[in-house]
Amino acid sequence: MKFIETHAHLCDKAFDKDRDEIIDKSFSSGIEKIIEISCSAKDWQSALELREKYKNKIFPVFGIYPGYIEELTAGNPLELQDNLKKDFCAGLGEIGLDYYWDNSKKKEQFQILDSMIDISNNIGKICVFHARNGKDEKNDSAYMDLTAKLKDDWNFDNKKRSRGILHCFSGNWEDAKAGLDLGLLIGVNGTFTYKKNHELREIIKKAGLENIVLETDCPYLPPQAIRGKRNDPSQIPVIAQAMSEYLNAKPEYIADITSANANELFSLPGE
Ligand SMILES: [Zn+2]
Repeated sequence: MKFIETHAHLCDKAFDKDRDEIIDKSFSSGIEKIIEISCSAKDWQSALELREKYKNKIFPVFGIYPGYIEELTAGNPLELQDNLKKDFCAGLGEIGLDYYWDNSKKKEQFQILDSMIDISNNIGKICVFHARNGKDEKNDSAYMDLTAKLKDDWNFDNKKRSRGILHCFSGNWEDAKAGLDLGLLIGVNGTFTYKKNHELREIIKKAGLENIVLETDCPYLPPQAIRGKRNDPSQIPVIAQAMSEYLNAKPEYIADITSANANELFSLPGE
């Protein structure tokens, strides 16, 4: 079985002491390719270096995370576009809206998102989106605001079946449906294994495996069995196993279909 990890932050300082060991461990656990998410301007260089070391195995995605308003300087969008134009760059992300931790800075978050959507429209790379609703879900829906914005301003015109990911999905079915209607896939990670996440498991079942990709969001969000510990890409098979049991599908099938979805979306080179 071969898996694709679609969302890792391996340049995070949590991996400074053993990054190469963790990457080796991940590849020997059945991970074939890793999408490295580099969403802070200060990390773009490290992601480029990581890719240089693991050519055709690690593919960077570059962007500016919602909330990092101080990174929207005069120079950064230009540097970002240069990085996105590199043929090994898999996409733009993670970008979006997060109302959970701080919903007081919506204006600033929209300012970054506007700039990122403009860049996506210019360059035509697929997007990895981050959305998280506020604590008062009805009045603070990041998913609804994000999908409305994409509907209005995202001119990403291609013939592909899918053109982005709602990574680390945590919304309700209406949120998922709004994303699926825009050609977005749903990123499933360790939160699928959390005891209380029954609603999420049902949403994934309803969305169907043809719309799912696997991710860890490491070093964050470890699966239930290692909660509280550092997460890494070798946990992907654990998440796939939990999905296999819940959806009553063979793990091999989950590996094949989610890898095909990721290869198609990111236009990754074949074996
Ligand atoms: Zn992330």
